[in-house]
Amino acid sequence: MFSLQSLIRPNILALQPYSSARDEFKQDSNQIADLANFTFLDANENSLGSVIGNFHRYPDPLQQQLKKEIAQWRGVQPNQIFLGNGSDEAIDLLFRIFCEPQQDHVITLPPTYGMYEVAANINNVKIKKISLTADYQLDTNKILQAIDKQTKLIFVCTPNNPTANSIDPASIHTLLAQFQGLVVVDEAYIDFADSPSWVSKLSHYPNLVVIQTFSKAFGLAALRLGMAFASPEIIAYFNKVKPPYNINAETQRLALQVFAKKDQVQRQIATIKTEREKLRQALNFLPLVEKIYPSDANFLLVKVQNADNLYQKLIQQGIVVRNRSKVTLCEGCLRITVGTPEENKKLIESLKQM
Ligand SMILES: *Cc1c(COP(=O)(O)O)cnc(C)c1O
Repeated sequence: MFSLQSLIRPNILALQPYSSARDEFKQDSNQIADLANFTFLDANENSLGSVIGNFHRYPDPLQQQLKKEIAQWRGVQPNQIFLGNGSDEAIDLLFRIFCEPQQDHVITLPPTYGMYEVAANINNVKIKKISLTADYQLDTNKILQAIDKQTKLIFVCTPNNPTANSIDPASIHTLLAQFQGLVVVDEAYIDFADSPSWVSKLSHYPNLVVIQTFSKAFGLAALRLGMAFASPEIIAYFNKVKPPYNINAETQRLALQVFAKKDQVQRQIATIKTEREKLRQALNFLPLVEKIYPSDANFLLVKVQNADNLYQKLIQQGIVVRNRSKVTLCEGCLRITVGTPEENKKLIESLKQM
């Protein structure tokens, strides 16, 4: 049986969270309808205002307006959403809420996103690594064998970075059903995939956490805005532990603006997917390309002859790709982000010269 309480670190269970001036005011003002006419002398803000714009009030610590939009878009309730300063904040909080340093551990499935390991190291939490299979799928039996009482989190990235493929849903269902800790499904690239989001399975699985980001499909990497979706009970622990004002007012305002332009974002996603397939075809013709892996993301993993050399030559041409040639199971591979049509042409032209 899944028990959330038994997974939480004792110090977090016992934690008395920070209570801000506005939190306390809101608790004491339930009965009052119109808050706009209040004189706010409770938070030591600069009452004269900021000299560069409307910035002098602390932002909404729970980002309620923005969460309402996200909830509608993803078909969940606002209390199933955590917003972080990048999805990296959600990943870090998972460690801080669930993993007792030097005692608990997590499972990662390399080759995958490097941040899980860094967050584990920062939090002094051990990792068990279970490699993906040769076709970049989960080795479900090995993962299940590696689980013990101290296993708190399993990170599954789908579509996976850097391999670009989606993970077979059946194997994720198996983990969710058999594992009593949390299965963290990182969907940073889900908008470029044809498969549905795991967010729709949240009501089936109390141990599911889905991570998404505004950095990729939404084109807002500079804002630093990430999401975690989970049960209201898990999200309540995120809210308890997070810095009170972790998402600044400008980020909340700008992210709301992008929801008014969702159609444009959808068109961009369609363009990127078309460009991805055009890039695949063009690369396929080049003799130095040995293999292009299937992609459900906005990048291609490409096996080439002499990857290190090619990477350096591209830099000399002013083109930067990611060299993954030293990564186990990605030997000889470059990871290439889909660019604009012009950028992709420039890349192909440069490669043709080599
Ligand atoms: C890019 C990426 C993220 C996004 O991280 P942010 O901190 O939200 O920018 C998360 N997970 C994976 C696998 C990624 O590749």
